[in-house]
Amino acid sequence: MEKVDRKFQIAARCIEHGHLHTEADSVLFLVKDKAFLAALRAYRLECESIGAAALQLAGVDRLIERVDRWQAEHAAVLKVPDIDAGFESIAGPNEPREP
Ligand SMILES: [Zn+2]
Repeated sequence: MEKVDRKFQIAARCIEHGHLHTEADSVLFLVKDKAFLAALRAYRLECESIGAAALQLAGVDRLIERVDRWQAEHAAVLKVPDIDAGFESIAGPNEPREP
């Protein structure tokens, strides 16, 4: 299966259903990422504009609050996201898929 996230190997289990998720169907953002809070706020707006239910919007609102608080409490470790030299392939395309 094609990797969507090329930076992280992901092994996550959703709390709601127990589904397993990997880099083939999910992406991972680190809370220390200085771009993440703005991305999350844009995601909240998009959720609302496409008609997400109130409970989803509330959940994203609480997530934004937790990320905001974590970043305020860990200001020293926040970083501009980057890809280290030697790992250029992370930013590259995936192999063409079979037709
Ligand atoms: Zn699930």
